[in-house]
Amino acid sequence: MQPANSLPRVRLLATGGTIAGTQLLGGKRGYVAAALSADALLTAVPQVAQLARLEAEQVAAIGSQDMDETVWLKLAARAQAALDEPDVAGVVITHGTDTMEETAFFLNLVLRTEKPVVLVGAMRPATAISADGPMNLFNAVAVAVHPEMRGRGVLVVANDEIHFAREIAKTNTTQVGTFRATYRGLAGLVHSGRIHLYAAPVRRHTAASDFSLRELTQLPRVEIVYAYAGMRPDLIHAAVRTGAAGLVLAGVGDGNVNAACRAAAAEAAKAGVIVVRSSRTGGGVVERNIEIDDDALGFVAAEELNPAKARVLLQLALTRTRDPRAIQEMFHVY
Ligand code: GLU
Repeated sequence: MQPANSLPRVRLLATGGTIAGTQLLGGKRGYVAAALSADALLTAVPQVAQLARLEAEQVAAIGSQDMDETVWLKLAARAQAALDEPDVAGVVITHGTDTMEETAFFLNLVLRTEKPVVLVGAMRPATAISADGPMNLFNAVAVAVHPEMRGRGVLVVANDEIHFAREIAKTNTTQVGTFRATYRGLAGLVHSGRIHLYAAPVRRHTAASDFSLRELTQLPRVEIVYAYAGMRPDLIHAAVRTGAAGLVLAGVGDGNVNAACRAAAAEAAKAGVIVVRSSRTGGGVVERNIEIDDDALGFVAAEELNPAKARVLLQLALTRTRDPRAIQEMFHVY
């Protein structure tokens, strides 16, 4: 075993979530997310001390349903500061699973680093029978210190799997195998800290990304409108009227909406609001100009990004340009 002081340094940034959650007493069903501190999480996994020298920092203490742009910017700044320290090998971020895919994708687009950045959560609270948090955390630290994980962008570790930020989605309300990367697959597996690598990331990220935290003090407002049979255009009008700079349609099928909503969205695009067509299906590519004439209506197609991730990319894109063609190019690249 390596002597403790020669182990790599890893910064643990804690934000809350079920991994830090405790159940209510008396066998009740509920639990409180974000109840435990970063240090308490580490106490539950003394084995991480064999992998790395962990330095814990509490950035937030929230269930990730309360994650927002303010916390993203603070978290990204703290992560970048740690990554810029020459002898920090990587960063591990504990986070609720509800919005982990959005935070991971945001960080994947703004952090300037080749070092591993690993988000980790749990589906069962820390006090549950067979809590999944401790092993997930151990595995996340193992990934963060592994030399071959450099240059792979922001990763999510859960349930013995390593996922790319761009590819994962939470797909189940309660099961520990909730994260899936249906189309481009896993980055790898991690079994009790032993890593098996599969793929490399396919799109631009981290060190090669053009987005930056510099001068970013807030993000533009982008709303998501969910499509369904019988959808009315009122929520599209409301988003525009209340000042949204961008609109993501969680469209039916191939990013579709009915005629009335298409007209409302076209009107919004004409007024300078960037309209991105994504899909509510959970899989597949939304391409340009198939059933909807994007060229004529001035829309952007989200490709494979789900509505929540399309919103993240659109928010960052809008910090650069309001030209729908330039933004479409970004959806091809990231
Ligand atoms: N709402 C919680 C959260 O996202 C529960 C999900 C979890 O952490 O697993 O923080």
